[in-house]
Amino acid sequence: MNNTTLSKFIKDIPNFPKEGIVFKDISPLLASKEARESMTQSLIAPYKDKNIDVVIGIESRGFLFGMLMADALNAKFVMMRKPGKLPGEIISQEYQLEYGTDTLEIQKDSLSSRDNVLIHDDVLATGGTAAAALSLVEQTGATTVGYSFIIELDFLKGKDLLKNPNVHSILHY
Ligand code: 5GP
Repeated sequence: MNNTTLSKFIKDIPNFPKEGIVFKDISPLLASKEARESMTQSLIAPYKDKNIDVVIGIESRGFLFGMLMADALNAKFVMMRKPGKLPGEIISQEYQLEYGTDTLEIQKDSLSSRDNVLIHDDVLATGGTAAAALSLVEQTGATTVGYSFIIELDFLKGKDLLKNPNVHSILHY
């Protein structure tokens, strides 16, 4: 499937979760086996020969394709989660939201300093989440090779916040 066909599997939901926001719903993409396979191949395409050891999925929609990407790249899959969800020793990174702050966490022993990491989430919006994910990987000493997103909301300029130049998004709005 080309990107125009893939874009038909994303549904615009006006005024969700708040008045004035048009939410990109990936549910139709999840529902179709053919679309899932095609999206997974598109997401990993720039990273196929980059020796990716670990795909990191950001909670929660980043888990869905993150796992499929890890399978396709023959890599490990690691969850990056909201606070208080992961057992054992963890590393945390706080980040700024429009109002207030949030935190991402990872299990300390899930990455080694020799790992090449690919960070995945469904949507790149303001970039706060993805920037925090990069800082968290940096704290472990692992190398972030790049990012892969299904959707990038270009008008929010999230890319400007990301220190890593390899930012690949399949669909742009
Ligand atoms: P950011 O930190 O870049 O502002 O927001 C990115 C996070 O918000 C991602 O984890 C993503 O799942 C979620 N997000 C923001 N806007 C949308 C949207 O329109 N659709 C979906 N599915 N997720 C969104």
